[in-house]
Amino acid sequence: MQELASERWKAVLGHLSGRVSPKSFETWFASVEPISFTEEQLELGVANRFVKEWLNDHYMPIVREAIGAATGLKPDVTLVVSGKAFRKMRQKQERELELPETPRVVAPPRPAMGQPLHGEFRLDNFVVGPSNRLVFSACQTVTENPGDGFNPLFIYGGAGLGKTHLLQGVCRALREKDPAASVAYVWCEDFLNDFVGGLQAGKLDEFRNHYMRLDVLVVDDIHFLGAKERTQEEFLHTFDALRNTGKQVVLSSDAHAKEIAALKNKLVTRFVSGLVARLSPPMFETRLSILRQKAARRGLEIAEALLAEIARRVETNVRELEGALAKVAALSAMEGRSPDVGLVRAALRELATSREGPVSLGEILDAVESVFGVSGSDVRSRKRSRRVIRPRQVAMYVAKRLTEHSLAEVGAFLGKRDHATVIHAGKRVAEEIKKDPALRRAVEDVFKALGRPAPW
Ligand code: ADP
Ligand code: MG
Repeated sequence: MQELASERWKAVLGHLSGRVSPKSFETWFASVEPISFTEEQLELGVANRFVKEWLNDHYMPIVREAIGAATGLKPDVTLVVSGKAFRKMRQKQERELELPETPRVVAPPRPAMGQPLHGEFRLDNFVVGPSNRLVFSACQTVTENPGDGFNPLFIYGGAGLGKTHLLQGVCRALREKDPAASVAYVWCEDFLNDFVGGLQAGKLDEFRNHYMRLDVLVVDDIHFLGAKERTQEEFLHTFDALRNTGKQVVLSSDAHAKEIAALKNKLVTRFVSGLVARLSPPMFETRLSILRQKAARRGLEIAEALLAEIARRVETNVRELEGALAKVAALSAMEGRSPDVGLVRAALRELATSREGPVSLGEILDAVESVFGVSGSDVRSRKRSRRVIRPRQVAMYVAKRLTEHSLAEVGAFLGKRDHATVIHAGKRVAEEIKKDPALRRAVEDVFKALGRPAPW
């Protein structure tokens, strides 16, 4: 049934691709998903309300023609917003966000040195303004004299404000200055995993030797250390061993060390003993400079007034600012004209609407299915194995936040459970995501797949 639908839709796409420009085809049709395709009815999933309206307003006659030509059928065509189409589009956008001319991964992954560095995250293309000047100059000091000045350097601030960019920029500058130095950039979770792995394999010495031999240790998102007691102890030893021998440590966190939940006092004291520097959201002028720089890197010609319009409208964080610009670039390429006010507004509107609209329980199920890799029917079953309980709880947690359904309805949909189970599940997930970064990220991905920001 589903196969027949995709076969038929593929044939329609074949015809469509000959009738619209390649860019329009990519933009509007590449992420459309056939949901059902019978003689009477064609239901298509689209990524968001904006795409739905655009297709309805501009392309329906061509689509109907192509259907007739490809299949000889004349079904009623309906468009619905679907999580699957949204994910397809999101993946495409993420590919577009990467600039083609610079390789993303600069060095091959060197496990000993942690994660590979992102090609764009360099200190020389970080835009400096009042919100980040102190942090930036601290980073420069560290690259000039590692181990000598601010040790540790502890950077904190909200999501999308440039923590990872700066940390990787520091690593890159240090490696360029002294290729022989062992400079490791690691996510906090990797440290946790390495430690647990070392512990289980009886290779704790190897783990310790590795970290203690480093010249510079840079750990991103250190707030994940909270609530992991043994790992905190271990990190403390690593930290002391490095710092006592004059090695540089740089840390980033989403909150001040004192505010990281369940972080031991001993660690808090050490984390604040060097320089603690905060990244704030950039002000208008800085947002504008960032946009100028990112537009230039993409080779996007865009009037200053339009950049100002984007800078005025997107205030929260730099990642979203970049997303808005990428959207403008995509629309402009598709339409084959330089960006103008209409196009910028359309892009901003699309970014906004991709986060609105109703979410159905079915879409939540789809999102959970793809993120956790368990089948939707298992999630909806009475099964009680660990593999399905967690995804089911997450589905309940998300449904409580994104739908208007009553707890009883949510419970009934997810395996005939009562409303108390839904309440309990919600609480469990809320607790667990504080302690478990992998789960937190998975839940974030579910929200993302549904086009919604995570509620934290
Ligand atoms: P965080 O780690 O704080 O969540 P990131 O370092 O991942 O944030 O930054 C998000 C995006 O914003 C990245 O693409 C980064 O290059 C960009 N960015 C943030 N601040 C700046 C800045 N001051 N200048 C240039 N790009 C920035
Ligand atoms: Mg980061």
